[in-house]
Amino acid sequence: MACNSFLKTSRVTQKRTLTYLSLVASLLVSIFILFSACEAPHHETPESFTPTTALARLVEGNQRFLQGKSRHPHQTHQRILETQDHQRPFAVVVTCSDSRVSPEIIFDEGLGDLFVIRTAGNLMSDLELGSIEYAVEHLGASLVVVLGHTECGAVKAFLDGGKTCGHITQIVEALANEQEEQQVLRYEGKDLRACIEGNILHGVTQLEHDEPILVEQIRQGKLGVTPMLYDIHTGRVLVLKESELRKKHHSLSN
Ligand SMILES: [Zn+2]
Repeated sequence: MACNSFLKTSRVTQKRTLTYLSLVASLLVSIFILFSACEAPHHETPESFTPTTALARLVEGNQRFLQGKSRHPHQTHQRILETQDHQRPFAVVVTCSDSRVSPEIIFDEGLGDLFVIRTAGNLMSDLELGSIEYAVEHLGASLVVVLGHTECGAVKAFLDGGKTCGHITQIVEALANEQEEQQVLRYEGKDLRACIEGNILHGVTQLEHDEPILVEQIRQGKLGVTPMLYDIHTGRVLVLKESELRKKHHSLSN
């Protein structure tokens, strides 16, 4: 009886040990998977980006976002530690302050990836241009994107032509003074989409004529400037062709 009892106890202990070991093993596997998932993203250094590869990365990120396959890279505590002493964004995104247009979300990027400039109507004054120059010259960004969007309220306000007050007036005036918008109104009338594209073109022109920093970087092939349009109805970013846009909207600026 005593022997049987001992054997029974021994089997129970053995079973418990096996259960414990299998639990530890599954825990270790889970931790490994979790770490692999978190740290799967790229290991590129910003220096490895060209205007072309930077553009491809943004396009791929928007594809993932559209397909519901966002990876949400670089949003961990580890990324905070990695970037605490320096930042090396690979692209600058100049876009509207509209709450529906969030670059890190629509391009599926994270901390330290994008240098973002946002104003209503993605308008750029000297202050914004200075920020962009800093991102290109000191932080090494390879691409500047001018990202307009459908249903832009700033462009609508300009087209509506109603009375504005405060500093909003300056936004409307800035749009009205753009040569590209004047051309659109002359040839296409009050067409919202055309005016949005005209405004994007204006931004591209400003960047391409930004002396001396951006002009020199573009001349050396180190910097690209790309017009884009974000569709707030679909989440899709459309990469626009500058030459086609200029032709379409009778832009005289290049
Ligand atoms: Zn807008």
